[in-house]
Amino acid sequence: MYEQVRENIFRIEIPLPRNPLRALNAYFIKGQDRNLLIDTGFNQEECRQVMDQAMQEMGFSMEDTDIFITHCHSDHAGLAGYLAKPQTRIFTGDYTAQDISRNHDFFVYFDNLVRQGGLLEMGLTQNPAAHPGYRYRTNEIDANSISIVQDGTVITVGDYSLNCILTNGHAPDHICLYDENHQILFSGDHILGTITPNNTTWDEPWEIKVDYLDEYLKSLAKIEALDIELTLPGHREIIADCYHRIKELRSHHDKRLQNALDVLGENTMTAAQVASKMEWDLNIKNWEEFPTAQKLFATGEALSHLSHLVCKNILNKELRDGVIHYHK
Ligand SMILES: [Zn+2]
Ligand SMILES: [Zn+2]
Repeated sequence: MYEQVRENIFRIEIPLPRNPLRALNAYFIKGQDRNLLIDTGFNQEECRQVMDQAMQEMGFSMEDTDIFITHCHSDHAGLAGYLAKPQTRIFTGDYTAQDISRNHDFFVYFDNLVRQGGLLEMGLTQNPAAHPGYRYRTNEIDANSISIVQDGTVITVGDYSLNCILTNGHAPDHICLYDENHQILFSGDHILGTITPNNTTWDEPWEIKVDYLDEYLKSLAKIEALDIELTLPGHREIIADCYHRIKELRSHHDKRLQNALDVLGENTMTAAQVASKMEWDLNIKNWEEFPTAQKLFATGEALSHLSHLVCKNILNKELRDGVIHYHK
C-alpha cells in the first residue's frame, strides 16, 4: 500500500476502483516542521479509506501536512478537500486553484465536448455525472487556503527543494516538481511509464485558443533538458529512464496524428466519429461497448489531435448545427 522510495519520500498507492487507470501514486515527503503530500486520489470511499490507513500506518498526520496538487483531474485533486485541515496549505497552479474553489463551470466544458465533439448526435447522454472527474471531484476548497504556484516557485520540505515546472498539455497549468540536488522529478500525469497521458481540449473546441498537443510536446522538451535520475509518476511504476520515455511519447503522438489522418481519409467527420474508428489501447474492440467515460476521453483525445492538425493547416474544420466537422 505504501513504500519508501528515497529518504523521507514515500509512495502511497491509492486504488481507483472500476477505472482503467487502476491506481494513483500519491507521494508523501516528511519534512521538519511541515510535511508535503503530492496528489490525493478520487473523492471516493475506497480512496479515503486507503489514504487514511496509510497515513496512520506511517504515523503521519494531516495536521502537520500541506498538499501539492499537480493538476486539476479528480484522481489527483479529489481528496484534497477531505484531507485538508484548517492549517493545511494547498499548493497548486492557477487553473487547478480556480477548479477546486469552484470558479470553473464544468457544465460548459462538458457541453462543448459532448456537443461540438459530435457525441450528442451519436446518442451519448448529456449527463456530466457520467464523467468521473465530476462525480469524484473534491469538496469545495476555500480560496484562502490555496497558494497558487508559478513556473519557478520553490517549495522546501526537509532536505528537498522542489522547483515548480509548468508543464502544460495534459491539463492546463499542470505542474511537475523537480529537485535539482537529488535529481528527482515528480511528473504528475505529464510523463507516465506504461500508459500514455491523455490529451484533450480545454476551451471551446471550435475556438481553439490553445493547441494543447503542441503545448504538451513543448513541455516534454522542457523536462528533457533537466538532469533526472528518478521519475515519480502519478500512475503505475516508477520510471528509471525518463529520456527514453519522452522519445516514446513523442513517437506515440506522431502515430496517433497519422492514425487520425488515415481514419479521416477523404471524408468529413466529427471528432467522435474519428475516435470511434481510431485504435485504442483498451480490451474492448467495439466502440458501442466503450463505457461512457471512455467515449468522452477518446473523443477529447481525438479533438486534441484534430485541433493540432487544424492549427498546423493540415486539416480544415466547419461548424454544422453546433457540431465540428473535420476534413482535408
Ligand atoms: Zn490527469
Ligand atoms: Zn491521473
